[in-house]
Amino acid sequence: ATAVELRNVSRWYGNVVAVNDISFSLGAGITGLLGPNGAGKSTILHMIAGFLAPSAGEVRVAGMTAWKNPEVYRHVGLVPEREAVYPFLTAYEFARMNARLHGLPDADAAAERAVDTVDLRGAMHRRIGGYSKGMRQRAKIAGALVHDPRILLLDEPFNGMDPAQRMQMMSLLKRLADEGRTILISSHILEELDQLANNVLVVVAGRLAASGHFREIRRLM
Ligand code: ADP
Ligand code: ADP
Repeated sequence: ATAVELRNVSRWYGNVVAVNDISFSLGAGITGLLGPNGAGKSTILHMIAGFLAPSAGEVRVAGMTAWKNPEVYRHVGLVPEREAVYPFLTAYEFARMNARLHGLPDADAAAERAVDTVDLRGAMHRRIGGYSKGMRQRAKIAGALVHDPRILLLDEPFNGMDPAQRMQMMSLLKRLADEGRTILISSHILEELDQLANNVLVVVAGRLAASGHFREIRRLM
């Protein structure tokens, strides 16, 4: 089945139409989800993760309806935009907590593997509150990787990073994609997706305004 498929999906919050009749599908590799603040990017990511119900249309992950579907939770990792909310936990403790929430049989091993994957082994027993911006973002990604999901969703992962941190994040994301994952990265800056996303979906005011190869989209902008 297609990894991710949206069919005529809309989502409204009261009178606000956050997502307006969007359709697309995603296979393996990195896709960018580009749009200004308020365009509907987070809403789309949360619907794919199964945390938010579409108001209309269908969101399918690995052929299954995403909303509140435990099978879908097993396939998807979401890295939300907000700062890590557990500054007093170490990266290892944060990953292990997520592993337990997923009910993994060996949460310790899963946590250790996840912090290893994001290159935080050396700092994994220090509190996240003392990390640099780049390390905090990688700790969040470790939390989303504990159950080894084939689909990874990242909401504005480059926010507030300096160029060196961004490069390190890019190489991590490429590595995760090379392992065969489907990765969707939201951003409000097209250049952040350069050298990273093959395809870009452009969302403006809840609508899919354009989609295509990075170069085609850059020509349009
Ligand atoms: P983006 O991620 O592109 O910034 P969002 O999906 O966060 O966009 O928001 C899309 C629109 O929906 C915005 O107008 C936002 O204010 C509105 N919105 C998002 N979440 C809620 C909510 N829980 N209640 C009301 N309005 C919301
Ligand atoms: P980045 O934020 O991209 O990881 P840094 O230059 O901040 O880049 O960190 C590089 C390395 O230095 C980290 O992988 C870590 O081993 C170490 N380091 C930096 N800051 C801290 C910190 N506050 N606590 C623990 N280790 C740190």
